[in-house]
Amino acid sequence: MPTYRAPVDEVMFLLRDVFHVERYNNLPGFAEASPDIVEAVLAEAAKFCEDVLTPLNRVGDKEGCRRHADGSVTTPPGFKDAYRKLVDGGWVGASAPTEFGGQGLPTVLTQAVREFLYSSNMAFAMYSSLALGAVAAIYNHGSAEQKARYLPKLISGEWAGTMNLTEPQCGTDLGQLRCRATPQPDGSYKVTGTKIFISAGEHDLTDNIIHLVLARIDGAPAGTKGISLFIVPKFLLTADGVPGERNAVSCGSIEEKMGIHGNATCAMNYDGATGWLTGEKHRGLYPMFTMMNTARLSVGVQGLAQSEVAYQNAVAYAKDRLAGRAPSGAKFPQKPADPIIVHPDVRRMLMTMRAFNEAARALVLWTALKGDIARRSTDAKEREAADDHMGLMTPVIKGVLTDQGFANTVAAQQIFGGHGYIAEHGMEQFVRDARITMIFEGANGIQALDLVGRKLPKDGGRALQAFFAEVSGYIKEADAAMAPYVKPLGKALGELREATLWFAQNAPGNPDNVGAGASDYMQLFGLVALGYMWCRIVDAAKANSATAGMDDKLVTGRFFMERMLPATATHLARIKAGAETTMALPADAF
Ligand SMILES: Cc1cc2nc3c(=O)[nH]c(=O)nc-3n(C[C@H](O)[C@H](O)[C@H](O)COP(=O)(O)OP(=O)(O)OC[C@H]3O[C@@H](n4cnc5c(N)ncnc54)[C@H](O)[C@@H]3O)c2cc1C
Repeated sequence: MPTYRAPVDEVMFLLRDVFHVERYNNLPGFAEASPDIVEAVLAEAAKFCEDVLTPLNRVGDKEGCRRHADGSVTTPPGFKDAYRKLVDGGWVGASAPTEFGGQGLPTVLTQAVREFLYSSNMAFAMYSSLALGAVAAIYNHGSAEQKARYLPKLISGEWAGTMNLTEPQCGTDLGQLRCRATPQPDGSYKVTGTKIFISAGEHDLTDNIIHLVLARIDGAPAGTKGISLFIVPKFLLTADGVPGERNAVSCGSIEEKMGIHGNATCAMNYDGATGWLTGEKHRGLYPMFTMMNTARLSVGVQGLAQSEVAYQNAVAYAKDRLAGRAPSGAKFPQKPADPIIVHPDVRRMLMTMRAFNEAARALVLWTALKGDIARRSTDAKEREAADDHMGLMTPVIKGVLTDQGFANTVAAQQIFGGHGYIAEHGMEQFVRDARITMIFEGANGIQALDLVGRKLPKDGGRALQAFFAEVSGYIKEADAAMAPYVKPLGKALGELREATLWFAQNAPGNPDNVGAGASDYMQLFGLVALGYMWCRIVDAAKANSATAGMDDKLVTGRFFMERMLPATATHLARIKAGAETTMALPADAF
């Protein structure tokens, strides 16, 4: 049975020593989050995740969700009780706006809590994450009445939310969407169509489920320009705002799938269901993108979270499992064999996971902090710069953290040898659960295209130039003693600049060059961002050298620089090879 310890000390180190969160006390909600409050919040979240959610992870996987003949769905045993505790603890809307009942805590804190939730039980945690996506969409794009009706209950967790984009014929290409909305005399719409793969589409955890549904108003233009977003509650609200009559939306089936069995993935039938337009007519992708950006960052955190829990269990196993002797001579001669942690190849895998996890967590928290600045600062320039950072980093966090997060679950499984393939140890569940993170909320190939095709050129490359300026400024100012970290980072940054220039020169003549190199570019970008995080971590570790564990960070950071960052050269070479051999064969040659 796998175990999990939430990395509270790691998060505290990042918030306090790396990002100096106390410097942001001028932002609303930050002064209230003093270091002792932050530590108490993290400790409480850790306890809930370790004691309540971790034991339910296997139960959820084995039992899954069940759909009944009447279309209702029950979640795995224990989920309802745990969900009640999640709501009672105020965890759902901890960083949501106070005007609608949230606690307004900094996202940089609650994003760390999300990691704990996802490590301990990703399928369970997804139920509340989707509500937060719905909150973001309604808060930013809904009418005053919609905010008043829906936000308080979504924020408290009493009601859940969903996002309904995907249809049988389209997921990525939403221009093909067929679900339709017919205007009614009272200003509402009748929504008709089928949505598939809807996470948490139906369940027994909450009194109501607020579906956010993309549909095309009768007569709307074809393509993505004719899509609108609708609020479709499972139970229509009475005049008093409480759930009343059942709406014409139901779960037709739940998918049998590879992982996250505890989360109900539903085919949803909308049979003239009553819905209300939110945001502007035919411009539904804007509010949906607000929701998706929240969700994409959250999915990146899922990748990190699965990597972290898999790593922790792999470490425990590697210390316990005896096999062979260390190449440099027996380390535990009194035992029949050495524990496998002595083997360099096992260490290679453990160090790769560790070096990734620590820097990825820093990247997530750095970006969450930018999110707080973007939403809470009174300085328009500061807000703009922070928003640029969020836009640029969202596809990187989603794509790179889930690709590497999944690879790490496989490496952790590998450390278990044959036992990793056996369900009892729980390692194969981490692999199965992590796999979806590379697919949903936009497959990772689409994240890469978003980065290269949209985020790089946006506003004349303003966000990218700001990132380059920050990293190169840091390198220039760095102390000579930082050379083992800064020199490789400088080389990697040079390669990233070269790749960017190559696209600028070679994309206009052949757009396939972008598509063929985008995934490599995203990985290259991610490595540079993680490398920069390692420099910041090492700086902080040196400044706190008397604290236990700081020397380990210097070593882990060097491992990253020497063993992981050099992959940037390979990515650059692939990008510069262009699309020629990738695209040369005609489709019928395959
Ligand atoms: C467990 C689970 C939960 C989900 N939850 C939700 C949910 O809550 N709400 C919801 O709306 N959806 C949900 N989805 C759907 C998910 O977001 C989509 O499956 C995903 O976005 C990919 O869409 P698709 O399956 O239609 O694949 P396609 O769009 O058919 O893509 C197939 C492949 O082609 C590639 N591709 C497609 N177009 C291009 C292009 N233009 N350029 C380059 N490559 C391209 C993709 O990267 C992908 O690798 C869920 C799916 C699963 C499996």
